[in-house]
Amino acid sequence: HAHRSQLYNEMGGEDALVGNVNKLMVTPPGYTGPPKKGHIVFDACIESGNLGRVDYISEFEFDLFIRPDTCNPRFRVWFNFTVENVRETQRVIFNIVNFSKTKSLYRDGMSPVVKSTSRPKWQRLPAKNVYYYRCPDHRRNYVMSFAFCFDREDDVYQFSYCYPYTYSRLQHYLASLERRNLDYLQREQLGLSVVSYCMFAHCVTAHLCCVSEKRVVFLTARVHPGESPASFICQGFIDFLVSQHPIAQVLRDHVIFKIVPMLNPDGVYLGNYRCSLMGFDLNRHWQDPTPWAHPTLHAVKQLIVQMNQDPKVSLEFYIDVHAHSTMMNGFMYGNVFEEEERGQRQAVFPRLLCQNAPDFSLSSTSFNRDVVKAGTGRRFLGGLLDDTSYCYTLEVSFYSYMTAGSTSPVPYTEDGYMKLGRNVARTFLDYYKLNNLIDESKLTGHINRCNYIFHHLTAMSLILGLFLFSISL
Ligand SMILES: [Zn+2]
Repeated sequence: HAHRSQLYNEMGGEDALVGNVNKLMVTPPGYTGPPKKGHIVFDACIESGNLGRVDYISEFEFDLFIRPDTCNPRFRVWFNFTVENVRETQRVIFNIVNFSKTKSLYRDGMSPVVKSTSRPKWQRLPAKNVYYYRCPDHRRNYVMSFAFCFDREDDVYQFSYCYPYTYSRLQHYLASLERRNLDYLQREQLGLSVVSYCMFAHCVTAHLCCVSEKRVVFLTARVHPGESPASFICQGFIDFLVSQHPIAQVLRDHVIFKIVPMLNPDGVYLGNYRCSLMGFDLNRHWQDPTPWAHPTLHAVKQLIVQMNQDPKVSLEFYIDVHAHSTMMNGFMYGNVFEEEERGQRQAVFPRLLCQNAPDFSLSSTSFNRDVVKAGTGRRFLGGLLDDTSYCYTLEVSFYSYMTAGSTSPVPYTEDGYMKLGRNVARTFLDYYKLNNLIDESKLTGHINRCNYIFHHLTAMSLILGLFLFSISL
């Protein structure tokens, strides 16, 4: 322990952390011999990578330091790095020692995710190998330790806070959509980010559209770059809307969906948790974005303001997707209004979503007007848009959900997050049917036309006792 504290001080503590470790081989102090198998090589110079420093504690134990967000040392949560040159059956304990948060889902059973060259599918580590505790050796910081046993010498292992979803992955996904040549899908470039990674808005429009008024649902994700589950939700949302599913076809005929899948591409690329390259939490700058300091946010805000001024466009929904580091389930935040009736209308969408998504929690959904959240997209647009529009933050747990009647949490998988996205999309049909925009005959016609096998349940709606229609996905 004395060795550990001394080491920590010699290295300048957390202040010394600037870049990611780059193929760093960690050998015992004073070791001068040739590199050996089992001298672990750590690397975080990968897309969305984050690991700032490694301290050798013993042959079996290493202290790992998260590299703080660029230009903003306050945020240290996301980590993502590779490990190689291991010995078969080598057992290690990795301690992540400098989290900037104390409350964590690690206390409730969350664990890091891992994959390796020969097993490329991400998995959560067994919760029993993960410990989260207050550590006297690290200024009483909370430390997350996990034990791991390497089993294949030639594999490169990768560990991460949660399932990564990189900028490149998004680009591949968008390119694959474009290759399908769908006539109702457009991709437009909204603007360049600070370091000129292109950022795209995605636009799904109706190909049979003959309505004079354009209803728009606007969805954004990854304003907080470390919140990777938001990208899986966003992809599930798009996948559903561009599909041949009859609900998607009806929605495309009535509603324009505008989606910005990555509002903070620099931050995602760099492996930041909360901020952009220049250290800004973009979700606190909706009131005053500038083209030089917050270019992507500025471009999105301009687009929204323009649509809001266009009399032919009715921007009805804005949903900003996030992930939550201490709560379970999916849930929403909404705004508080003077008029009670508007507040009740705002509660309709979350109620409908709760019917469609077993992992969505209505009891965790809340409506607030905290001063600290004044610069968020939801709050700012809630004030800008007229009283027939609804602005929400959609949150999803980094870890798990509890369904009604179950006693143990179900950890989210990548597909679990995508499924929530699909359920958000189809909930718009319920919403617009409730508001008589989409009528039953139209839907039935569509379903016959594509000869779909479907089940429809004449379930009672929770709200207003209306006829609800449900199609199994
Ligand atoms: Zn967030």
